[in-house]
Amino acid sequence: MDPTDTAAAAEAVVGGDAGHLARLFAMSPDLLAAAGFDGMLKLFNDAWETQLGWSREELGAKPYLDLVHPDDRAETRAQIARLAQGETIAEYVCRLMCKDGAIRWMAWSGGPGDEAFYIVGRDVSDRLAMEHELAQRAERLANTNAELQDFAYTASHDLSEPLRMVASFLGLLERRTGDALDDKAREYLHQASDGALRMRHLIDDLLLYSRVANEAPRREQVDLRALVDDVLGVLGPAIEQERAQVVVQDLPVLEAEPTQLAQLLQNLIGNAVKFHPPDRPPTVTVTARRTIGACVVTVADDGIGIPETDQERIFAMFTRLHGRDEYAGTGIGLAICRRIAERHGGRIYVESGVGAGSAFHTLLPDTPAAPGTPEGR
Ligand code: ADP
Repeated sequence: MDPTDTAAAAEAVVGGDAGHLARLFAMSPDLLAAAGFDGMLKLFNDAWETQLGWSREELGAKPYLDLVHPDDRAETRAQIARLAQGETIAEYVCRLMCKDGAIRWMAWSGGPGDEAFYIVGRDVSDRLAMEHELAQRAERLANTNAELQDFAYTASHDLSEPLRMVASFLGLLERRTGDALDDKAREYLHQASDGALRMRHLIDDLLLYSRVANEAPRREQVDLRALVDDVLGVLGPAIEQERAQVVVQDLPVLEAEPTQLAQLLQNLIGNAVKFHPPDRPPTVTVTARRTIGACVVTVADDGIGIPETDQERIFAMFTRLHGRDEYAGTGIGLAICRRIAERHGGRIYVESGVGAGSAFHTLLPDTPAAPGTPEGR
């Protein structure tokens, strides 16, 4: 017997005994029926009664289209016309009305016969309700995210102007009256200017973060070597101040948004230059390797390292493992890096040990991820 021949298989199981078929028919939780092209149900199982609440007599006496929700009747007629022409249908969803007024969403498959067509209906009300609820939640979440991003951008943008005023008047005060002030007053003034400068860095980083969040990367071919050279130019003063040695190995051309990738490298190399023990200048290496369908860019250092328990949380906003007096910073740099990697459909992670240095790996896939990819944490 051909195992794909279902009719023959059924015949073999049933062994010619229609009783088996009748029992299976009665037991099915799905709605099964042979429905006449004259509009009446010819044969239907118990699920029709139990699920819809109509009695067997009522179901036998009613045109089946009366059970269909009025708004779905035209489309249901069209589906029946397809069956009448010998077509089969799959996953046609319409609403049926129960006796108590409730409505059930049913997904139908159907196949044609001579005077009747055969249908199987499955109640998908719960599944649809859940899908609807999920879609609504996703929409609410997307709206809230968009609002938060707008808020972060507007707040940091609008804070810039008053801060600029505070900083410039503090500078003016320092220049004009600095000599006339006693040491304590000069110290106060210095502290205030320092606070304004830190706030400036925070606002700049917040603005950067929300820009990365708002703008989808426009990828192009980027010569990574040239990009790293530009970044090293920007970081020149810090590299000199920390007496860092930066080693750059052969780097490929890859597909990325150049401004965002430069920002990511600037944050990673800047950190690698910054987080070293005070008694030892850092050595930083920048490498890249191809894997299947992706490029992994690595910035490694021989600095203070990161405890294993902190290696995930350092990528969250404002997480810093040290006091300001030890190492300066805002705690936003790695959050920006993670955003950039994720906007490229990739990810960033660190391998590190306390005192053993750190290696930050950024995986950038060759092709962008499908739209709707979750941005993760
Ligand atoms: P910031 O550098 O402004 O403090 P980041 O978000 O760039 O903020 O980094 C978060 C924290 O992660 C840092 O404060 C530091 O504690 C840790 N960190 C980042 N890069 C390194 C590194 N290369 N070596 C050791 N610790 C690091």
